Amino acid sequence: MSGDQGEGGKLKQGTRLVHAGRRREWTGMPGDPGTIVNPPVWRASTVLYEDVAHLRSANFHTEQRLYYGRRGAPTGWALADAITQMEPEAAGTMLFPSGVAAIASALLAVLKPGDELLMVDSVYGPTRSICDGLLREIGVMTRYYDPLIGAGIADLIGEKTRAIFLESPGSLTFEVQDVPAIVAVAKDRGLITLLDNTWATPLLLPALGYGVDISILACTKYIVGHSDVMLGSVTANAALWPKVQARALMLGQMASPDDCWLALRGLRTMRVRLKEQGASALALARWLDARPEVASVLHPALPACPGHDVWARDFHGAAGLFSFDLAGGGDAARTAFIDALELFGIGYSWGGYESLALPVDPASLRSARRWDEARGPLVRINVGLEDVEDLIADMDQAFVHWRNAQSG
Ligand SMILES: *Cc1c(COP(=O)(O)O)cnc(C)c1O
Repeated sequence: MSGDQGEGGKLKQGTRLVHAGRRREWTGMPGDPGTIVNPPVWRASTVLYEDVAHLRSANFHTEQRLYYGRRGAPTGWALADAITQMEPEAAGTMLFPSGVAAIASALLAVLKPGDELLMVDSVYGPTRSICDGLLREIGVMTRYYDPLIGAGIADLIGEKTRAIFLESPGSLTFEVQDVPAIVAVAKDRGLITLLDNTWATPLLLPALGYGVDISILACTKYIVGHSDVMLGSVTANAALWPKVQARALMLGQMASPDDCWLALRGLRTMRVRLKEQGASALALARWLDARPEVASVLHPALPACPGHDVWARDFHGAAGLFSFDLAGGGDAARTAFIDALELFGIGYSWGGYESLALPVDPASLRSARRWDEARGPLVRINVGLEDVEDLIADMDQAFVHWRNAQSG
């Protein structure tokens, strides 16, 4: 089957992930019965028209038709279509040069001066910067709310409240939000909901299926999956799609066709990567949970994680990113532990095929629900595709350095 959009909804997600976006007109030549498997890289600025009449009649601002390079070309459309088809309730997807650009454009699509935004307190740091910087400057005020608030969000809604932004779980502290409860309140009060779904992807949390209006992905993470491309996406339901699309086009947002091509390549294998990375992460999290060096493990599939019950009810699985508190020792011992790891890279970002370890200190990023600074130092782990036995052995030897750093 060709991956035509109309067929997408009936198929299971894994099958859609393989077929979506591979339209005949993007993988072959007119009149030639053969097609190649992957849409090639369509690079374009100028689009040539047959004659002046054709040029003047062109009004392809919102259609997937060649018009001018900034308005897109088939490589990007193939990726956008594939992401759209991952959620049957989705009307369309816009692509952006980074996840942060996607978040900024989505917020600017739904907010205007005088509006108030309800923002989850565990949100990604740069999203907080958009709220406290750009949005404040243009007269949009942000109120941060407790990630575990659930239906209690109703009490925070005022006359000016226009939208609720969710991110579940938080990417440092892993509180799982009650998405259905918050969406129900939002619908009742006529508010727009946006969700940063980077951790789960639509495979583990079909956000629009839960009634979320706008789903945002840092494709940089699991979609790309190979730590070599920056990319973001915004997917919207039919009601919000025209606004999301118009704002992105107005802001001149677009993604490079080379990056889209790499992201399409990543997307095709995302399901097996996520499954494997999720299984290894859970095995590592359980091993850590039983260690005397570890005070607590923040992994949505473990009962101690705030919101674990909600995760078990709503998610189709767990991704490969989680955190744990060391049982004391302070920053110096944490540093000794991370520096001693041989198989875990030290760096920002996540979702790639290689494991990472990162010291994180969320206290300064919180205002609605304070982070208990008396907790042990926090380490965030991205689990890659290595054999988990090797990752466990690596952590085992690094704990020796953590213990030595404390006694020394
Ligand atoms: C990385 C990340 C982003 C931003 O994506 P970039 O592509 O790095 O701009 C947004 N949200 C979450 C949860 C992230 O982890």
